[in-house]
Parts: sequence; structure tokens; C-alpha cells
Amino acid sequence: MEETKPSGESAGKDFIRRIIEEDVRIGKNGGKVITRFPPEPNGFLHIGHAKSICLNFGIAQEYHSVCHLRFDDTDPTKEDVLYEQSIEQDVHWLGFDWQGKLFHASDYFDKMFEYAIRLIEQGKAYVCGLNEEQIREYRGTVTSPGRISPFAKQSVEENRQLFRKMKAGEFPDGAYVLRARIDMASPNMKMRDPLLYRIRHAHHYRTKDKWCIYPMYDYAHPISDAIEGITHSICTLEFENNRELYDWVLDNIPEQFPSRPRQYEFARLDLQYTVMSKRKLLQLVENKLVSGWDDPRLPTIAGLRRRGCTPESIRKFCELVGVAKANSSVEMSQLEFCLRDDLNTKAPRVMAVLHPLKVVIDNYPDHPIDPTDAPYWPHDIPNTGSRPLSFTREIYIERDDFQENPAKDFFRLAPGQEVRLRYAYCIRCTHIKKDPATGEILSVHCTYDPETRSGTAPSGRKVKGTIHWVPSNALPAEVRLYNHLLLMAQIDADLDFLSRINPHSLETLTGCLVEPSLKNAHAGDRYQFERQGYFFADPVDYQLGKPVFNRIVTLKDSWSKKQNTPKLI
Ligand code: ATP
Ligand code: MG
Repeated sequence: MEETKPSGESAGKDFIRRIIEEDVRIGKNGGKVITRFPPEPNGFLHIGHAKSICLNFGIAQEYHSVCHLRFDDTDPTKEDVLYEQSIEQDVHWLGFDWQGKLFHASDYFDKMFEYAIRLIEQGKAYVCGLNEEQIREYRGTVTSPGRISPFAKQSVEENRQLFRKMKAGEFPDGAYVLRARIDMASPNMKMRDPLLYRIRHAHHYRTKDKWCIYPMYDYAHPISDAIEGITHSICTLEFENNRELYDWVLDNIPEQFPSRPRQYEFARLDLQYTVMSKRKLLQLVENKLVSGWDDPRLPTIAGLRRRGCTPESIRKFCELVGVAKANSSVEMSQLEFCLRDDLNTKAPRVMAVLHPLKVVIDNYPDHPIDPTDAPYWPHDIPNTGSRPLSFTREIYIERDDFQENPAKDFFRLAPGQEVRLRYAYCIRCTHIKKDPATGEILSVHCTYDPETRSGTAPSGRKVKGTIHWVPSNALPAEVRLYNHLLLMAQIDADLDFLSRINPHSLETLTGCLVEPSLKNAHAGDRYQFERQGYFFADPVDYQLGKPVFNRIVTLKDSWSKKQNTPKLI
């Protein structure tokens, strides 16, 4: 079908929104739009789910409607109420609400059973005793048709009795399955008598021990959608071939549902240098390769929150990535762009030194002179606010802002060389003191020029570099820097991803120094440490007297080849 150019209201909308627009226009489902987000509570949500949440809840908002939150709890062996709680928290944190429409697939287990009986009675389903391997073998291949199961000829009565016995717990796991009778020669493998129910003697966290047969996703999903009156059932592309079965289920169950939902597929979000599947994330957590589901290195929503990302930036990222029909993997730099863009106007600028080097200003008095009023914001941000900043005789600068034997293009501090200190003075290095045993630089000695105080009339002095610093009463802090979780942008399915974990994905720096004004910081506060990036006072480990900051993102694309320290304006 040729795609027609959208016009008017639907111009610029993605293909799903254009379909919805048209459905509303022609009055399909009474003009209603109801969506759902259907996570399986078998792990924490990741940023891929955020994309689905933004899409489903976003559409509901646009149509003044509602998006249901439905837990797809059809596999009791992997699911847990703790995961449900985390999912609810994450959806809320992203800024969405299900308006009381919280459901579970298990709410409909009775109905699903009843409909299965009706399919059996119509000759559209049968109980099959082939084992897993035989079922696979009978199914055929993409190039050859399958064979009809010997159990397919059983009478309705036999099927009904066997299915009831399955439910009554008379058979062990795997002894029988309920299958739809469709077409073993269908070009769509999903239509070759797919499984509807399997036996699983497992305790379910909600239905307890009531059931020992559980419906398959392809059967449970369309029924749950239809019972809830969902109009547009949006899922990811890998379900494209399941759509025919979705429709078969709804077309063959003799029931008047409040809506006739349709399934639409969009490209799943895949982010480079990380893993995006709950199964893999669970492996990382269980093998203690990360500190938990909320480890800031993970692409989980809980991890992103703990790292300090804002919900606004995640929503913006999902919007930027867009809703497409073709899978692609997104560069981490896109997410970082959204983070910087959002934090730029939210995070006040302060100074922190991550690798301190002591500088002694020999001609500066021992007692502090009047503090400078240092603005929290650069000129191009329309926010106001400042803090007093005292200059002291001893200060600390970043170790790599000093070079004993400077390269030609090194414009920061070096013997005989002058540099400007942010919000303070120009200083010139006179000499250094070294540890005679190790040769390590213990302190850098400088003189300052009182005429160059920041905010006073320009001294006419040309100083090429400006660096940040903290005074002698700076506060010690721990700083956590995060890098890619994986060493490779993409991991082939047959590669063991656990062996490709970046050993430097977390760098913990102790002995950092942050400026004294941060004594008033609280857990959950965000700052820009000038020239270093955006940082977040860790919501769990941050305590007064022991500040811990997570780096949310650097100030520029740190994944690009050049790794220069950003310049101050
Ligand atoms: P995973 O493979 O990570 O466990 P899943 O698809 O099994 O994901 P579900 O809990 O079934 O996880 O997903 C809930 C919803 O989120 C589904 O509609 C699914 O299509 C969507 N979703 C999952 N992963 C992504 C992704 N990477 N991008 C976009 N949507 C996703
Ligand atoms: Mg799944």
C-alpha cells in the first residue's frame, strides 16, 4: 500500500498516531481511544519500556482518554509482586497515571478458561499430547508445511474432558497442551496450531494455587485487551507475525466485547553499549555484577533515576527517537544530549575538584578577604541566584590543570605560567614542592595579582586559560563516575555478554573536594560541577557530612574521540 502524505492535523505525526487519527475520524470503536501498557512483572523496566510508556500513555493524554496498566502475569515461575511495585513507581516517576485502571491478565483467567472450552466445543481447539520436541518437529519449517498432530482428530468430548483434567491437576507439567486448530500448512508459522494453554504446577503470586494451567501470551493478550475495551494494542515489531493469531483469537471467540482491538507494531528501542532485556538485566543483578536493579550504570528506569536523570529528559529522549517501523539502535549520545539540554537550566553551577592538587598563594594574607559573590548561572540562562565564595591562601585545583613540563598548547598552570581562577584572581606559578622520595608534586606555589580580582575592571592582562578551584575549607566528597556498561556498541546474540562488561564502568573517586556552599546540599539535588559535568547527590548514600555525588553526564559528548577538558566561557 502506498503511503499517502498526511495533511492538516495529522501532519508530522508518527504512523500510529495517524492511524488513530483516522480511526477517530471514521468513528471506529465509537470514536474512543483506549491504550494499555502491558509489562510482565518479571523484572524492572528499562528505557525501552519508557518508550512504550511514553507512546501509550502519551496517546491516551492526547485523546483525553486513559491508558491501562496491565500486568501480564501469565508465567508464575518468573513473576513477583516486588516487580509490580517497581513498575508502578517507574510509570508514576515518568509522569504518567493509569487513573485507577490497573489490571492483571490473571483477573481474566476464569473467562479465558471459559472461552477455551467454547473453542473446543466449536472444534477450534484440541488437547495435544505431543511433547515439546515433537510439537516442534510436527510444525515443519518456513519452507515446508507442518504435519497434523495425531491428537487433532480427538472428539470434542475427549478434548473437553482432557482439558478439564488438565485444569484439575491430573497431569504433570508438559504432558498436554491446548492448541488452536488453525492450519498446519500456513505460511505464518505462528498459525500452525499454536499453543493456547500449558500445564504448570506453580504457585502464582496472585491466584495462589487455583490454577495449574496457564494461558499463553498469544491467547491471553487479545482477550485481556478486548475485555478491557482497548482499541489500539501497540506492541513492538517482533510481534508482527503474532498479529494474525491475535485477530484469529478475537474473531473466533463467540463473545460481544466492548471493543474490537487491533494490534500495531513499532520498532523497539535499542541503545548502544548496554543491554535492554529483563532477562539479561536479571543476570547482571543476580551475578552481582552491578549493585542492584537501580545501579546507575543500568538502563533501567530505576538506574537512570538513581543516577540523577530527570523524567523530563527521558520523555524528551523518547520523543526524539520517535516511533518508527524499522528497528535501529540509538547512540548513547542522543540520551546524553537530552540530559544536558534539560539540566542546563535546572542545575546551578558550582565548583568541585575531583583530583585535588594543593596550591599555595604565597603573597595572599592568612585571613580571608571579602568573599566574592559567585553567580550560580551563566549569562545565557535566565535564572538568578549566587553564593558567597571565599578565596583562601591555600586552594585546590584539578591535578591535570597543572603540568610541570607543559606542552606547547597547554594554557593552564605551569611553572612561570599564569592562569585565571574562576571568580577569583590570576595566579602565576613560582615553584613547586615535591616529595623527595617519590617525586610526587606536593604543592604548587604561586603569587596572585590583587589587581585581577574577578568582577573588577579588566586588568588588560591576557590570560589564556581559566580553571576551577576550591578553597581550603572545601568539603570532602565521594564522586562516582559512570562509563559504558559494555565494551561493545552491539553484542551479537551468540556472544556471552557477561564477558564483555566494561571493567571500568564505575570509577569511584574518594577524596574529592566540593566548594563549601554544598554543605547545604540535600540528597537528590543536582548541580553542574564546572568543567566536569552534571552531578546528582545520591538519594541513597548521600548523608550530611558524607556527600556522595553521581555523575549524570559529562558536559560534552564524552564518547567522541577527543577528550579535552571543556573550557570555561
Ligand atoms: P524484555 O525483553 O526487555 O524483557 P519484554 O518485551 O519482554 O521486554 P514486557 O514486560 O513484555 O517486556 O514489555 C511490556 C511492553 O513494553 C511491551 O508492550 C513491549 O513491547 C514494550 N517494550 C519492551 N521492550 C521495549 C523496547 N526495547 N522498546 C520499546 N518497547 C519495548
Ligand atoms: Mg516479554
